[in-house]
This record gives sequence, C-alpha cells and structure tokens, in this order.
Amino acid sequence: MTKHLLSGHARFRAEYFSGEGDYLRSLARDGQNPSTLFIGCADSRVIPELLTTSSPGELFVVRNIANVVPALADADSSVGAAIDYAVEVLKVPHVIVCGHDGCGGVKAALDGINVLAHLTSLHEWLGAVVPAATAARALEPPPAELLKTAVEENVLQSMSNLITYPPIARGLAAHTLSLHGWVYDLAHGEVRVYDVFSEEFIAASRVGETKT
Ligand SMILES: [Zn+2]
Repeated sequence: MTKHLLSGHARFRAEYFSGEGDYLRSLARDGQNPSTLFIGCADSRVIPELLTTSSPGELFVVRNIANVVPALADADSSVGAAIDYAVEVLKVPHVIVCGHDGCGGVKAALDGINVLAHLTSLHEWLGAVVPAATAARALEPPPAELLKTAVEENVLQSMSNLITYPPIARGLAAHTLSLHGWVYDLAHGEVRVYDVFSEEFIAASRVGETKT
C-alpha cells in the first residue's frame, strides 16, 4: 500500500537529506524564515516547491480544494490561522494565491454544486467558489475558455478576500507585504501571473514587460 512511499522516503534520506544535511539541520536549529505564504490547491499535480524550485524553509504553504481564501466574515480557521502566523509572526513579505488550469473544484462550481449536496463538507466549501464561476460566466468567454476564466476569477476572488484579513491589510498599508495571483498551467508547466497594469494573467516569462 504505502510501500512505495516508504521506499521513496528511504531514497530521500540517502540522497537528499545526506546531501543537504547541514542546511536542513540549520533549519531545525534556527527555525524557519520563509519568504512567501503560498496558498494553493490541494490537487496532487500542483506542487508549490517543485514548480518554484524551492527548498525546505522557503515557502509557508496552505493548500485546500480550489485554493480558497474565505472572506473573513466566514473565515475557515485553518486558512485564517495560517495567514495570521505567516504574516504577523514569520513576517513573510509575499503572499501568492496559486490556482491551476483544469481545477476540479472550480469545474464543480461551474457545473453546479447541488449534485454534491450529499458530500456535506465539500458542498459547503465549494460554495465559496460559486461567485467566481458566476463572474466568469458574466465575462462571456468562448465556451472552451470558461473553466480557464473561472480559475482566474477564483484566484482574484481569493486575493480580494485576503485583503479582509487585518494582518494582510496592515502589511499592504505599511508596504511590507505584496500579493501575487498565479495560475499554473498543468499541460505546459508554466505559471501565468496576474499583472495589475494590464489587469490580465500573463505568462511568467513576460512579467515586467508591461510596466514601462
Ligand atoms: Zn484545484
């Protein structure tokens, strides 16, 4: 059952841990000092450390279905606690909300979550994604682009909700914190980044081009 995971762990110890032992022991001794609170989807194909080539200690990660940040009024305690700790205690200077193309949670919100009513927790959770699905439809994209548009709207919704959290609002006002919206394209292995100047998601390789 989990035999392949344990053998993978043995390989991690023999290869990664033995090679990076000094660095990993320093993290254990000195504590963490991550640069980024990364809020992503729980989808098994979206691995924050892998797609950013980050080492242990660099990303403080929250993952849930459809990378939801609930509005503070109905805050999920897991997400809210992570925001409080990362921003107020660890003083991360960056927060990334990262969605991904083909997100099953966003697709469910588009298709109608009533069919999931028997899955109480999932049904309730995905209710937070429905406004993004509605917003995407209102933009009237080509049918083939609807899910992609809804994924992007869902990232923007989570970013908008982030601002309702006092630590985020304080950090933005003090210019000690910046927010970033990403969408990971599974098929091409490239992130699209929300560009505040053009108000659209652009390929990571084009970031900076529109600032002049
Ligand atoms: Zn997803």
